[in-house]
Amino acid sequence: MRRFLVDRIEEERGFCIVSGPEARHMIRVLRLAPGDRVTLVDREGRRFEGAVHSRGPEGVRVDLIRPLPQPPPSPVYITLCQAVLKSRAMDFVVQKACELGVDRIIPVVTERSVPKMDDRGRSRKVKRWREIAAAAVKQSDRARPPVIEAPLSFQAVLGLEGETRDTLKVMLWERERRCDLKALFRGSGHMPSFTGLVGPEGGFSEREAAEAEAAGYTLVSLGRRILRAETAGTVLVALAQYEWGDLHVPGTAVDRGSA
Ligand code: SAM
Repeated sequence: MRRFLVDRIEEERGFCIVSGPEARHMIRVLRLAPGDRVTLVDREGRRFEGAVHSRGPEGVRVDLIRPLPQPPPSPVYITLCQAVLKSRAMDFVVQKACELGVDRIIPVVTERSVPKMDDRGRSRKVKRWREIAAAAVKQSDRARPPVIEAPLSFQAVLGLEGETRDTLKVMLWERERRCDLKALFRGSGHMPSFTGLVGPEGGFSEREAAEAEAAGYTLVSLGRRILRAETAGTVLVALAQYEWGDLHVPGTAVDRGSA
């Protein structure tokens, strides 16, 4: 059944109004008719089977039929602190990280992050990133939408506490020559919460690397090749999800020791 995102499903109402681009997709592209069955997913991750009832000025009315089970969230909570990148690169890493199950994305303004944004530009970009995230949620059928925060300064990000006390905090540092992700992952047991910090096209400064290390981030290398920032952010989320999350067949007790 086709999935459609709505803001909020209120079961007691017995129906939901699908509006905006989702409604247009229903009617103009898919030409859904009364009685057609759909799956509705809201921003809290609630899911219902529904039946198209009618279309009106505010959108398409869908009658709620029955609640559907939510897919289990990943066992690891992943936060990606991504230095703000140029438009298409940032769109890319937001989309891919959402498909890979990232739970929170914090855009970071670093010394060398390129787009300098005024308030209007900032809110416009956050709105765009949230739309990209919503579309990725729908496409990837993930449990619940990620949180896309408004941009924070580098220092503000370093001051944030992780989701849990034992959050593993990692900074991808292209000039790191001692520690790599493989060694770090192998040396740590299951991590329920992971925060990854990724730099801009121009990289992090020495000062930023020292400040991050002082704030409890482990500086790690992804090897000798220099990845584009959006590639690095995507790879980091994928590796954390692979190591501690749910990049495996659902229901298999994947024991890391046997991997
Ligand atoms: N301007 C930097 C240079 O030429 O060395 C490259 C920065 S890279 C394009 C953007 C970000 O991706 C880096 O700040 C880092 O966070 C991450 N990154 C890319 N390749 C990496 C690697 N091999 N090891 C660690 N981090 C990497």
